Amino acid sequence: QFPFGRRLPCDIYWHGVSFHDNNIFSGQVNKFPGMTETVRKITLSRAMRTMRDLFPLEYNFYPRSWILPEELPLFVAEVRMMKDSNPSWKPTFIVKPDGGCQGDGIYLIKDPSDIRLTGSIQSRPAVVQEYICKPLLVDKLKFDIRLYVLLKSLEPLEIYIAKDGLSRFCTEPYQEPTLKNLHQVFMHLTNYSLNIHSGNFIHSDSANTGSKRTFSSILCRLSSRGADVKKLWSDIISLVIKTIIALTPELKVYYQSDIPAGKPGPTCFQILGFDILLMKDLKPMLLEVNANPSMRIEHEQELSPGVFENVPSPVDEKVKVAVIRDTLRLMDPQKKKRKDTQCLLYPGVADGKLQLEPVRIQVKYGMKDKQHKHHSLKLSLKLKFYLKLGLCQSSEPGASSEPPDAAPGPEAALPSLCLKQVFPKYARHFSYLRLVDRVAALFIRFLGVKGTTKLGPTGFRTFIRNCKLSNSNFSMAAVDILYIDITRRWNSMAIDHKETGMCLQAFVEAFFCLAQKKYKALPLHKQVLSLIELCECRLAALHGKRLVWGCG
Ligand code: ADP
Repeated sequence: QFPFGRRLPCDIYWHGVSFHDNNIFSGQVNKFPGMTETVRKITLSRAMRTMRDLFPLEYNFYPRSWILPEELPLFVAEVRMMKDSNPSWKPTFIVKPDGGCQGDGIYLIKDPSDIRLTGSIQSRPAVVQEYICKPLLVDKLKFDIRLYVLLKSLEPLEIYIAKDGLSRFCTEPYQEPTLKNLHQVFMHLTNYSLNIHSGNFIHSDSANTGSKRTFSSILCRLSSRGADVKKLWSDIISLVIKTIIALTPELKVYYQSDIPAGKPGPTCFQILGFDILLMKDLKPMLLEVNANPSMRIEHEQELSPGVFENVPSPVDEKVKVAVIRDTLRLMDPQKKKRKDTQCLLYPGVADGKLQLEPVRIQVKYGMKDKQHKHHSLKLSLKLKFYLKLGLCQSSEPGASSEPPDAAPGPEAALPSLCLKQVFPKYARHFSYLRLVDRVAALFIRFLGVKGTTKLGPTGFRTFIRNCKLSNSNFSMAAVDILYIDITRRWNSMAIDHKETGMCLQAFVEAFFCLAQKKYKALPLHKQVLSLIELCECRLAALHGKRLVWGCG
């Protein structure tokens, strides 16, 4: 902590809430710019819908969702249509306020007319979602899974998943939703922050009993019942990769705006919390992504009325300490330096005494963290301990005199990594899904002014002109109308009105619209792919021409 300002740059900046420091010019920050905004309920639902429009079969792991208030008429109409076509369908829906957390403001409804259309829905938009009525139960209780995912790098994309996670249990036996039990939060919502207030909540030291357990203990149980746990893991990995693929276009727009290419800046990484619900048939469904998952390893216990004490929570500690320790091991700046030094100096370092500098970490708290500062600080001290353990051994006197290649390495004393790389490892199975990424690359290319996230009318016109998309059927006047129509609608729904112009999602809509116009007979993803290829090809030709002119 640097209460009077920071004088020396750090290797790692550990921010509590979000990326919010513009004075970092090197090192690594544990948050991506714009991540909090990108994983908000509404933004996530939109990103998932775009991907579902392109790849309906691949993106069927996110419940069908509508955004309130703007899609209320659509929600009403679609539900009516589905009920008409299938009169035995008796759905339940869950309404979740945007930007909410810990179950705050969530309620269940049986019919669209039950939406509480008070002032709050106007001032606080929400997502209404199909409720998953048949979750997998353990001990007759509903539970969800919190998995930790490390987004190590955005470009190139690198994703790691923690091998263990948490399972958070409801505290009332589950029944399928009826008008009578809809309001019973301890039966339907798995949030720890809610269920802790139920008299039935069980704090347990054991990983496989109580209201919070390790995910591995659930897998063991499922495996003993004969479930195909390998397939379940592979479905979860695929859900995580596909979700991150849906988020990357937006993240790249924020990234270039906060850390413009070619200027000194930090690199970023982030630990995300994925909340996943298993259906009865073991299909994993994504509930939400948390940009700032709680890393608390203690819980409060009431010793006597009004007197609380923090006691360690072994289940949290087992999962979370490993996640943070391994994130630091993977991000370890000295590792890179060691590698470089090894390349440059070996065999000059054959005495094994590489001079390792201490790693400088800055831990920074946001407003939201103040209440947890005490725990976080303890945790951060723990991190430093682990980091030390990971980094300092080989530089201590008496370290191995083997050349660095043969030495056991500073990590030898640590447990094997709990974070498993899944991307680029499985990239070839998923790369075809990264279409919106390429649309975002076109968008960023025409943004013009550095530091902006929205495209002005001139930028849009230049895009159309350079890609030669305008013709006798699609005049430049029609281009302007398309821009104005789509931009106006998106801006009227925007949460932040700071910047005017066309946001990425509006550009994606315009792009899909152009693709549909141009390649009528194809399915949407092929239309979009064809237009991307056409644009990339025409821009490459233009660039080539400019180079030739430049030389001339
Ligand atoms: P919050 O950010 O407020 O925790 P979530 O989206 O995680 O909001 O929802 C809270 C809880 O509600 C989840 O942990 C889960 O138990 C339940 N839940 C959320 N969405 C659904 C759904 N579509 N079907 C069934 N249960 C859900």
